[in-house]
Order: sequence, then C-alpha cells, then structure tokens
Amino acid sequence: MKRGKLGTTLRVGLGDDTHRLAAGGPLRLGGVDIPHDQHAVGHSDADVLLHAITDALLGAAGLADIGELFPNTDDENRDRDSAEMLQLAFAEVAAAGFQIVNLDCVVAAEQPRLSPHKRAMRSRIAEVLSIDAGRVNVKGKTGEGVGPVGQRQIVRAQCVVLLEKSCCEE
Ligand code: MG
Repeated sequence: MKRGKLGTTLRVGLGDDTHRLAAGGPLRLGGVDIPHDQHAVGHSDADVLLHAITDALLGAAGLADIGELFPNTDDENRDRDSAEMLQLAFAEVAAAGFQIVNLDCVVAAEQPRLSPHKRAMRSRIAEVLSIDAGRVNVKGKTGEGVGPVGQRQIVRAQCVVLLEKSCCEE
C-alpha cells in the first residue's frame, strides 16, 4: 500500500444502489422515514442511501460487498434495518484500521423534494457511523421527468467515501 504525504494511507470507495418504487409510504432514505406516497421495494428495509454508503465503505477498505455480507437469499436479512447492516460493515472497516475522512452522496428521486430532509439524513448517518455530521454530505437530484428516476419508477443513490489509515500500523 502506498502512503500519503502526511503519514497516512488514503483509500477511496464508490457505492451505487437502485431500488424500485411502489405505492404507499413512507420512503426510507438515510435512516429517515420520509413522508411520501411511495416506498422502496427490497429484501431488507430497502434504504438505498445506506446501501450505497455501506458499499462505498466496504469497497474503500477492499472488503466483500454488501450483497456478499448480507445475501438477499437469507431470511435473516428480510426487512432488516439497513442502519444495523451499515454498523456491522463499518465495524469490519474499522477493524481493518480505517477511519472515515468524509463521505459525499447523491440521491436521485423525482419526488419528494429532499432539501427539507437533508439535515436529518446527515445527522442519522453520522450517528450510525459515530462521526461528526460535518463529515457527511447528502445531495438530492431529480430525473427531470425522464427515465426511470423521472418517471418515479426507481430511487437511486451514489456515494463516494474517503478513508484514512495510520501509516504506522503498516
Ligand atoms: Mg440495495
């Protein structure tokens, strides 16, 4: 592993997830239940944002992805709280010696407008990861009325994360 200038190893990770939308709310995003007339469909609680964050963290640390850690064929993961899965995944990342520098996320959903909920999502994500909310950013985008996002068929989330590890452990 190459070392950064300041005696740390830096690793970047990318997470990307999509879930179908169906009638009936609420819509769970970033560990927050947002009042809406649709919900995301999935084996777990279908929190697309927490899934993208989980995969970004695991990817940066070079660990198995969320589908390998929490298979959707496992009944234990049915309706499971994605915050719990994120905590378990991050525990593995931390055990490998990594800390979070920051994470930056984009949620693509035609509706609802996410601006009023961003602060709550940032706070909840920071709480789950036991980090300062200033290290977490969440942005909302629409699909401009076209494509599966614009037609309210899916919700998608992407996340990049930067991890650092002390050089002295290497
Ligand atoms: Mg997912």
